[in-house]
Amino acid sequence: MKCSRITRLIFSGLIFLSVFLFSSPAYALITGFINRDTEIKIGEEISKQVEQENGGAYSDPRVTRIGKSVAARSGRQDLPYSFKVLKTDKVNAVSLPGGFVYIYKGLLDVIGKDDDMLAYVLAHEAEHAAQKHVIKSIENEMSTELILSLALGKSSQTIQQMAGIGWNIIQLGYSRENEYDADHWGVSDMILAGYNPWGAIQMLEKFKEMSSGKSIEWLGTHPNPEDRIKKLETDYAQQLAKAKNKYGDK
Ligand SMILES: [Zn+2]
Repeated sequence: MKCSRITRLIFSGLIFLSVFLFSSPAYALITGFINRDTEIKIGEEISKQVEQENGGAYSDPRVTRIGKSVAARSGRQDLPYSFKVLKTDKVNAVSLPGGFVYIYKGLLDVIGKDDDMLAYVLAHEAEHAAQKHVIKSIENEMSTELILSLALGKSSQTIQQMAGIGWNIIQLGYSRENEYDADHWGVSDMILAGYNPWGAIQMLEKFKEMSSGKSIEWLGTHPNPEDRIKKLETDYAQQLAKAKNKYGDK
């Protein structure tokens, strides 16, 4: 009899757990269970694939210096931020969980020698990682089975599965809300690091100009530059008015 009571208890516990996991409001509460170490491991796993798919990556001292200077102003200082260049002509940039940021050579060529534009792109990407945009989406998309296998000790297979979900999310693109967030905090970081916020506006203007002539990969996963310029001009009206618009009158 004692045994069946225990069985019943376990059963009702399991039913409670599954109701908790599957009813959507409760499900949404279960976030924040991926810890920092796992977050970094997921990023490392995706980075292997990203580098392989794009002909490899290299470190560029200027990209590293500017990237580290804006990341040092971000809201999260417990990530091992790294900034590398992917050897492809695509005009794009991407960031992975854990703070692995990549700028594609094609975008670096478009930016040329302009440190302010580069600071904006790197800060925007670093903020996606700092704000855990991919990690939060992975948590929402993990199956109960995967959550349990993570809870039971993360095997490399669990990490690989989570990395697969993460890479899918990145390729599909972030929500508009996440993008505006990365823009907002990214520009704040670049201003605090001493860069000219007009660099952000100019970068978006450049994307807008280029989008009529050729395909810009970065625009495929990001909201319309026009809307983002308007938003930044509202959010940072004072700072933009104070900074010198070295790109000429607008
Ligand atoms: Zn973005």
